[in-house]
Amino acid sequence: MLIPEMDGIELPRELDYISTGEVDGVGTWRELPEDADLKGWRAVPRRALWELTGEISFAKANRLYAEMDWRKNSRFCGRCGTPMEDGEDNGRACPKCGYRIYPIISPAVIVAVERENRILLAHNSAFPSGRYSVLAGFVDLGESLEEALRREIREEVGIEISDIRYFDSQSWPFPRSLMVAFQARWASGEIEVDGKEIDSADWFASEDLPEIPGSVSVSRRLIDDFIKRNS
Ligand SMILES: [Zn+2]
Repeated sequence: MLIPEMDGIELPRELDYISTGEVDGVGTWRELPEDADLKGWRAVPRRALWELTGEISFAKANRLYAEMDWRKNSRFCGRCGTPMEDGEDNGRACPKCGYRIYPIISPAVIVAVERENRILLAHNSAFPSGRYSVLAGFVDLGESLEEALRREIREEVGIEISDIRYFDSQSWPFPRSLMVAFQARWASGEIEVDGKEIDSADWFASEDLPEIPGSVSVSRRLIDDFIKRNS
C-alpha cells in the first residue's frame, strides 16, 4: 500500500488519509495502473502500517483493502456466471438468478494453553527459525469455536484442553480472517507435534521464553497476559 513520502519527518500517527490509486487523500482503494505517478508516495507492506501509523490507520487501511479484494473476487455469480451488481446493502446480487453474496470473513481461533505456570508455545514451519507462538487454526464448517480449538490442539500437538475462556478478538486481514482468542488449561496427553504444520512445541516458563511475535497481534497479547500473571 502507499503512504505519503515525507523525508526526514516522522509520520503522524493515525493517518486519516491513507490512500489509494488516486493519490488525492480520498479514502478508497484501488489497484494502481502500470503508469501511475508515484512521486510523493512510497509503498509499504500492509503489516508495517501498525508500526508506522498506529492501530486505527492499520485497521482502516486493511478494511479498505479487504473491500477491494472482495469486490475483485466477486465479479461473477458463483451459481450462474452472470456479472454481479451491487445490492442495496453491503452485498452483491445476481440480476439473472437472484443469488446474493456478502463479504466473506473466515473465523480463526487462537489459544494460550497453560499447564502449571507454563505456556504452550509452538514453532510453525512457516515461521522464521526460532520464533514460537501460541497455536491457531481456522474454524471448519459446522464447528463451534470451542470445537475448532479442541480439534486444532489435538491435531497439532496431541493434547486435550479444558476450561476454555474467551480472551479477546482481532480483525486479521491477511487475507480476511477474524481471530478469536481464548485461554485454556491442559487436561491430558503429552506433546506430540504433527510434524507438518508444527515442527516443535514445548511448555515454557515466563522467565525462559523463546523468541515471540511482535506487538501487532493478539497472539502477543495472550503471551503478555501470561507473563504478567506469572512473573
Ligand atoms: Zn446468478
